[in-house]
Amino acid sequence: MAVHVLMRRVLSRSRSSTSSVLARRGNRAPHRPRDLRAVVAGVRGEVRFNARLRDLTSFRIGGPADALVIPADVEALARLVRQAWKARCPIFVMGGTNVLVRDGGIRGVVVSLAKLKAITDEGRGVVYAEGGVGMPTLIQYAIRHSLAGLEWAAGIPGTVGGCLVMNAGTRLGEMKSAVKAVRLIDPRGGIRDCPASRLTFKYRRTKLPRGIVVGVWLQLTPSPRARVSRVVKDYLRYRKDTQPLTLHNAGCVFRNPPDKSAGQLIEEVGMKGARVGDAQVSEKHANFVVNLGDASAADVMTLIKKVMRAVERRTGEKLQLELKIVGQP
Ligand SMILES: Cc1cc2nc3c(=O)[nH]c(=O)nc-3n(C[C@H](O)[C@H](O)[C@H](O)COP(=O)(O)OP(=O)(O)OC[C@H]3O[C@@H](n4cnc5c(N)ncnc54)[C@H](O)[C@@H]3O)c2cc1C
Repeated sequence: MAVHVLMRRVLSRSRSSTSSVLARRGNRAPHRPRDLRAVVAGVRGEVRFNARLRDLTSFRIGGPADALVIPADVEALARLVRQAWKARCPIFVMGGTNVLVRDGGIRGVVVSLAKLKAITDEGRGVVYAEGGVGMPTLIQYAIRHSLAGLEWAAGIPGTVGGCLVMNAGTRLGEMKSAVKAVRLIDPRGGIRDCPASRLTFKYRRTKLPRGIVVGVWLQLTPSPRARVSRVVKDYLRYRKDTQPLTLHNAGCVFRNPPDKSAGQLIEEVGMKGARVGDAQVSEKHANFVVNLGDASAADVMTLIKKVMRAVERRTGEKLQLELKIVGQP
């Protein structure tokens, strides 16, 4: 198959993420820096222009954002969204652990929720976590408060918001089992709450109203602390033994086809260890691509194409991306 056709397929399979999280008809990144300054004007928090994104990603790969905003709180984020809506400026939200940012970077505004980190105990096992709370931090909170229900997520490095959107999961469970409700900022900057009954959880994605997830209510269950802690420790050990956690990566690259393992298929066709530049199919777990040091997004994409081509040719299986590929070449 021609290279450009396969590349189109790779990109179309991550379509949901190549567009911005908040899109408006006719959305386009402002051409002049002055316009971009108007979008971020008065937004409390950190604002960086022409900001390196690679440091924000677990892959350590990717070009710059026109502007990176780390809002101080939910109100500051709502203001940013309102201003971006008026200016038709695209916004992309990123925790950074399941994305490949392309080498040309991301036009418009990239938002990190790194300052939305509050966790509140609402009683009766209900915990409210802001969208930027890291899953590992939330799991430690659950252990300290003797709450079960998140052990399945031990070792997932994403934010609570990202895990909700991706319906993150493992063989022990997935996000959907714990979610009670979510708080979103809609594309016009309004804040709204949405019960879990209005969300549709699928394999590694959640259908929810358009917007930025700024908080999630989770229903957990009281349980002896030692028991919760032991399950988490055991699962972390299992992941350390089976996944390439000492090298930069973005988790599983491909979704598992029904009743099959993408990693096993890749191994079967002899692509384990395959390499393009500094991007390599992990020798420890074939569904991970690792950055051996200085991989570019182009290297990773060429490697992904090779893997897809080999698997399709030898097994007939068309692998689907779990990884989100975003930005410009
Ligand atoms: C070592 C390693 C192990 C991993 N193991 C697993 C695993 O076992 N299971 C699993 O499911 N995943 C795993 N992952 C992948 C990743 O951690 C999850 O997919 C996680 O849910 C992504 O969260 P994030 O905050 O990094 O979001 P990102 O990867 O940055 O974003 C993912 C998508 O969600 C959108 N998004 C992010 N935050 C928000 C928000 N607040 N509001 C609206 N949209 C948002 C983004 O725009 C993007 O489209 C692993 C990753 C690594 C690096």
